[in-house]
Amino acid sequence: MIRLVVLCILLVQLGYSQSTDEEQLGKIYKTALTQGKSYDWLNYLSNQIGGRLSGSIQAQQAVDYTKQELDSLGLDRVWLQPVMVPKWVRGTPEFAYFETSPGVTTDVPIVALGGSVATPPKGIKAEVVEVKSIEELAKLGTEKIQGKIVFFNRPMDPTQINTFAAYSGCVDQRYAGAKEAFKYGALGVIVRSMNLRLDDYPHTGSMSYGDLPVSERIPAAAISTNSAELLSTALKLNPKIQFYFKQNCKQFDDVKSYNVIGEIKGSTHPDEIIVVGGHLDSWDLGDGSHDDGAGCVQSMEVLHLFKKLNYKPKRTIRVVLFMNEENGLRGGKEYAKVAKNNQEKHIFGLESDAGGFTPRGFSFDGPDAAFDQILGWRELFEPYLVHMFEKGGSGADIGPLKNDEVMLAGLRPDSQRYFDYHHAENDTFEHVNKRELELGAATMTALVYLVDKYGVPAQ
Ligand SMILES: [Zn+2]
Repeated sequence: MIRLVVLCILLVQLGYSQSTDEEQLGKIYKTALTQGKSYDWLNYLSNQIGGRLSGSIQAQQAVDYTKQELDSLGLDRVWLQPVMVPKWVRGTPEFAYFETSPGVTTDVPIVALGGSVATPPKGIKAEVVEVKSIEELAKLGTEKIQGKIVFFNRPMDPTQINTFAAYSGCVDQRYAGAKEAFKYGALGVIVRSMNLRLDDYPHTGSMSYGDLPVSERIPAAAISTNSAELLSTALKLNPKIQFYFKQNCKQFDDVKSYNVIGEIKGSTHPDEIIVVGGHLDSWDLGDGSHDDGAGCVQSMEVLHLFKKLNYKPKRTIRVVLFMNEENGLRGGKEYAKVAKNNQEKHIFGLESDAGGFTPRGFSFDGPDAAFDQILGWRELFEPYLVHMFEKGGSGADIGPLKNDEVMLAGLRPDSQRYFDYHHAENDTFEHVNKRELELGAATMTALVYLVDKYGVPAQ
C-alpha cells in the first residue's frame, strides 16, 4: 500500500514536472511575443547608434546604452569588464573601376577588408589576374603575379544547404588572400564578396597579414558579387584590362572598451554559471542589426523574460555582450581569462551570432552525456517548429570557455538569407523580422530554463 502511494506520488510528480515544462515554455514564448523588449532594443542599437566597430564612438554608445538597459531590469548585478581592442577605421569611401581600353572605365563597388592597409594616396592601377583559390595562386607563381592585382573569385557553394558551410569553404580567400598574394609580388587583392546572392553590395570582414611587417602589407578589398561576375567576363574578353582602386583605411593603437555583463544570482547553485551572449561590436557599413545586434538583444531578453515571469533560477544566469568579435575576439578571450582567474565554474554557454532569423534549433559542443540529456528535451520545442539539435560549433565569443566539462551551444536560425546581409551596408534594422527575432529569444530562454532546472552532466 505504501509502495503504491509512493509510486503514485512519483508518477504525479513526474507528470506534473513534464506539464510544467510544457507550460513554462508556453509562457516563455507567449511573453516573448507579447511583452518582449528585444525589437525595441534592436531599434535603438540600429537606428540611434548604428554600426559599432571596435574602438568607435558608436561602440562606446552601445556599451553605455546596453548597460543602462540591463540596469533597468532589476538584475542582481550589472558591470562593465574592461578590455583593450584594436581600432581600425575605413576613412573616406573607397573607389574602384576597371579600364577596358584607355579612358573607357566601369566603376565597381568595393570596400576595404577590415584590417587592410590603405592604397598609396593616388591608388593602385595594374593588370588583374583572376584565381579561384590560394592553390591556384601558388601554381601561377611570381612569373604571372608580380606587379599585378590578384582577383580571388571563388563563389560560395550554392549546393550547401547550411550557408555557414559555404562561407567556411570560401572565407580563406578573404582572410589570407593578401598575405598569400604578397609572396608572389602582387600589388593588391580584390576578393569576391562572401554572398550567395548576386547584388551590388560589397561585404567586408576581417583579414590578416599574419606576421608580415607593415612594409610588406598590400591592400585588400571586397567587390560586390555582380561586379565580380562583370570583371570576370571582361577579363575573358581582354586579359589586359587595368583595375584601379583607392582606399583610405588606417589602423590606430589599441583603445579601451568593455564587455557588458549582467546576471541573476542562482538561488541554490549560485556558483554554477550559465552564460548567454552575442557580440556588441559590428562592422561599420550597415548598422549591425543581424550581425550581431540581434544576438545581443535576444541574450538580454533571456534575463528580461525570467524577470517578467518571476522565474527565480537555481543557477546564476549571466548575459555577456562581448566586444570586438569581428576584428580581434578580444572580448571573448578576456571574459574567459577573467573567469579562469576567478575560478568561476561555467556549466553552459549559449551564443546567438547567426542572424535574427526564424530559429531552427541549436548546435552543441560539449560532453556526450550532456548532449544526450539535452536531446531528451527536443520534443518540448517541437510545437515551436524548433527541431534541429545537433553536434557542431557553438560561437566564437564563448569558444574560449571550452574545457572538458562545459557544454557550449549556438542558436541556429534559418541561414538562407544571412549572407545577403552579413558585413554589408544592407545589414539594417528593416531586414530583421520582429516575430523571428522574438521566437529566437524565446527559444534561447526555453533552453536556458531547462539547463537551469535540470543542470547538465559534466562528463
Ligand atoms: Zn557576428
